[in-house]
Amino acid sequence: MVARLIDGRAEAAALRARVAAAAAELKAQHGFVPGLAAVLVGDDPASDIYVRGKGKAAIAAGIASFEHRLPASTSERHLLDLVLRLNNDPAIDGILVQLPLPPQIAPQRVIETVDPAKDVDGFHPQNVGRLWSGGRALVPGTPYGCLMLLQATLGSLAGAEAVVIGRSNIVGKPMAALLLAENCTVTLAHSKSRDLPLIVRRADIVVAAAGRAELVRGAWIKPGATVIDVGTTRLPAEGGKTRLVGDVAFAEAQAVAGAITPVPGGVGPMTIACLLRNTAIAACRRRGLAGPAL
Ligand code: NAP
Repeated sequence: MVARLIDGRAEAAALRARVAAAAAELKAQHGFVPGLAAVLVGDDPASDIYVRGKGKAAIAAGIASFEHRLPASTSERHLLDLVLRLNNDPAIDGILVQLPLPPQIAPQRVIETVDPAKDVDGFHPQNVGRLWSGGRALVPGTPYGCLMLLQATLGSLAGAEAVVIGRSNIVGKPMAALLLAENCTVTLAHSKSRDLPLIVRRADIVVAAAGRAELVRGAWIKPGATVIDVGTTRLPAEGGKTRLVGDVAFAEAQAVAGAITPVPGGVGPMTIACLLRNTAIAACRRRGLAGPAL
């Protein structure tokens, strides 16, 4: 069997187009433009690329983009004050503070200061709690993007055995909550899990989010399983270049799985598209509008 490729670029483009249509309708019908504020502290090149990418994607979708760039020496108080100002700014519907933050700033304090109604990263404890308790949460973009790819591939996920590798607050834990809400039987594996190959072998759905290049081997995968590879590790390549590698040994897994995401071109594009989706949803909810189905 050669697994079907799950095209994250195409799914993300379709979602971005739906968000753009929704933003245009909000402007025409209700006279406002959703606003997304991105805060970047320091000059980490990867974070700079992410923030730029998010801003460009927002503008392309008809969302107003506001960037706040602060020096690496910024105090926690200064950052919290900026977040509070953004919380109170009616033009802003979504706030994202790019992680990681410099060591003098406690990320959890910043996360808990963002207004939960504008928390388009879905990291605030109120959104985390709502996600687990079945409430109306803003859900982190990467796991929600994985869920959309799974639903586009499989339709209903009910009854499936799902294994999530990695238990971070950003990917693994919300992924497990989303799969549970879709009636999967969920196993959440981590670095202390015993016999990971055995755990993975029983899965109809594998979501790999460990950040360990090619950790998951083809021989671990149940024939026909759907494999979502969240991991991204940059490895040295020929000519002094680098290449992006996932958590799954792609060629091996492709020979066994039923469907698989490539790296790059799988989960990555969905993350930003889901951030835009959250911004449109937050903009509607803050104004008491039902908003479009995205
Ligand atoms: P993280 O915070 O470092 O968490 C990694 C998780 O993987 C931890 O729970 C860890 O277990 C587990 N783990 C590490 N080695 C393992 C092993 N050998 N076996 C089983 N579990 C293992 O990482 P993250 O933020 O969740 O990100 C995970 C990966 O996804 C990274 O490569 C990241 O770059 C990528 N990512 C991609 C996107 C995207 O848009 N494509 C977005 C976010 C993240 P312990 O808890 O026991 O330490």
